Amino acid sequence: MERVNTLRTTRNLPDGPLLELLETTDKAVARYLKESAREVCRSVFGNEVQLRGLVEWSNVCRRDCYYCGLRRSRALPRYNLTSAQILACCEKAWAKGIDTFVIQGGENPAGALQLVPVVKSIRERWPGAIITLSLGELPFSTYAALREAGANRYLLRHETANPALYGRLHPAPDALESRLACLQELRRLGFQIGMGMMVGSPGQTPENLLEDLRLIQQWRPEMIGIGPFIPQEDTPFTHCPPGSAETTLRLLAILRLMLPTALIPSTTALAVLTGGKEAGLEAGANVMMPVFTPETEKRKYDLYKGKHHV
Ligand code: SF4
Repeated sequence: MERVNTLRTTRNLPDGPLLELLETTDKAVARYLKESAREVCRSVFGNEVQLRGLVEWSNVCRRDCYYCGLRRSRALPRYNLTSAQILACCEKAWAKGIDTFVIQGGENPAGALQLVPVVKSIRERWPGAIITLSLGELPFSTYAALREAGANRYLLRHETANPALYGRLHPAPDALESRLACLQELRRLGFQIGMGMMVGSPGQTPENLLEDLRLIQQWRPEMIGIGPFIPQEDTPFTHCPPGSAETTLRLLAILRLMLPTALIPSTTALAVLTGGKEAGLEAGANVMMPVFTPETEKRKYDLYKGKHHV
């Protein structure tokens, strides 16, 4: 309990106690950690969950990340939503009172460039909306054009802060260094940025997770997305065990205590393991992202096993 209280008041802990907290077998301490994170979340954001309208605009991706169901070498019917379809998704979300849109897709620089006028249309139609993008690593000129068109936030999970582990999860020449350079540029352009990691990826150690916590502490992103690794069929990691929901929840709680004002979603990947989004909210998450992708395409955004059942 003392460690949790120290983390709560100083927003930091040395490496040893932080790792012990992450790995504690004392259920009362783990429960206290999550309850404290929930209390801190409530003190900052009140008793409200913030909603984002998620639009999965395309499952076309040029990369081949070993863990991902959208990787380019996986057989999958591919799609791109049209501008009209994207606007219709935003319209539906807006009608439900949601004023933040998240447009997410595989990494496709040519496609991302075509989104510039769409972002502009969204900005013109809903001047007060917040437009969040999650489109991977793109040329800096495209980031600038998207920002100029009116996008406010950009999510680019770093996945792991350890360069060697990053190399085991992504084929060369993908590198952590280039991902961090993108995040740096996004911030320079005035985007609010989102970072985050996959928990329990093949070969990951608790020390790697500590590196993730330190990286996030150092960068202080406005948004943090954490989800467990979930194996997907027809990928190189298909037979690897999934990450731990409990470890994911503890990390979420620790990050809430470290960065009380961060926007932290209760992710769908976590919900696949816990059976719902409540566990994430109870551990300090304050955001949920209902999906507004058209029914005809939803199932093709096949990131990991079980996604469509949540
Ligand atoms: S994780 Fe992102 S960049 Fe990698 S294959 Fe999947 S969609 Fe593409």
